[in-house]
Amino acid sequence: MTIDEIRDLLKEVKYPGFSRDIVSFGVVKDISLDKDKVEVDLNVTSPSEETRGEIKSQVEAVLTKSGGFSTVEVTLSGGSQASPPQKPAAAPVPAISLSDVKHTIAVASGKGGVGKSTVAVNLAVGLAQKGHKVGLLDLDIYGPSLPVIMGVNERPMMTQERKLVPLEKHGLKLMSFGFLTGNDTPIIWRGPMVSRMTEQFFTDVTWGELDYLIMDLPPGTGDIQLTLTQRLRLAGAIIVTTPQDLAISDVRKGADMFGKVNTPLLGVVENMSGYVLSGVVRGSDNQPISNATISIPGMDKTKEVKSSDDGQFTLEVDLFKRGGGHEESNRLHVPLLCEIPISLELMESCDEGIPLIIKDPDSPAGRVFAQLVEKVEEILPG
Ligand code: ADP
Repeated sequence: MTIDEIRDLLKEVKYPGFSRDIVSFGVVKDISLDKDKVEVDLNVTSPSEETRGEIKSQVEAVLTKSGGFSTVEVTLSGGSQASPPQKPAAAPVPAISLSDVKHTIAVASGKGGVGKSTVAVNLAVGLAQKGHKVGLLDLDIYGPSLPVIMGVNERPMMTQERKLVPLEKHGLKLMSFGFLTGNDTPIIWRGPMVSRMTEQFFTDVTWGELDYLIMDLPPGTGDIQLTLTQRLRLAGAIIVTTPQDLAISDVRKGADMFGKVNTPLLGVVENMSGYVLSGVVRGSDNQPISNATISIPGMDKTKEVKSSDDGQFTLEVDLFKRGGGHEESNRLHVPLLCEIPISLELMESCDEGIPLIIKDPDSPAGRVFAQLVEKVEEILPG
């Protein structure tokens, strides 16, 4: 087989999710032939490991199946730094935007469970408390948590023009996949379906005039998120991460994704940054002891506080190596917007459906959310 024949053979492999083949996408970078050993170097620009793995194994399968080679070696280059291939030129992704919405802000994360929805909700409610008109759109199709965190789960009404009327709670207009599908339905959505549904949530909902529309994006920085960010004209994006995940380049991937679609990154929110211990020091007679020293060994250094006159103390303990947020955000030139401690009250407020910024604004985490709201107002005045 000649190199050209091998190239023709590789045209059988389609780029996952597209009808075009990998050769016409320019994925096949190099083919070399040494007797009956073939080496193929692929340049797959998609950051999705699934896409990359699928292309590699399909190429291996096609070459092995041809029976022409004793050894087949396929290598992959490219990756998260480059942009994924665009859809064929005939179908550019049209941007959709809402003329009555001043600022659309996406809240994103590299993976689930880092507190993305918790941050989106408290930010949205905090902005509404300041007198702004705010909408909250939960696009987290894999685990819509807005109905639980906001304590509302009704079916939205439809207008005669078949537009969805957002639900209202805690001063916000709300829409979530969860309102339509129920929370317990495990759903597997494919990219194009997500795109269609999202478009409807964006344009077929009577949002009215809004100062801010906060969007809770599905977790991850793959193709679905990229398409969403590309289509919805965003004023900015916020990435939520935990201290450990900062180290595994979640923020880098998120920053790359928003960079590709020219969306300004407003900054990073580090969640579960530490733990705030509070309590009362009492003696064996159960009386509060003032001026007692409470000393807790931390990751970097032992922390100490003195109890107050009534024996009360509050001490923030580091559970993970501290300072990662600052270092990483400096390195990436992305501001660190705030650091939210692990907080029992915050977890409980989510379960109860009353956002912490309403339930206990003076709690340590409540105060951090207030700071976040102020920063967002500062960057994008309502
Ligand atoms: P995500 O949207 O990233 O999947 P959620 O916002 O749904 O994450 O949060 C996941 C869980 O973690 C929820 O039960 C929430 O109450 C809890 N949680 C989030 N942030 C904190 C925190 N700082 N302290 C304690 N629990 C938290």
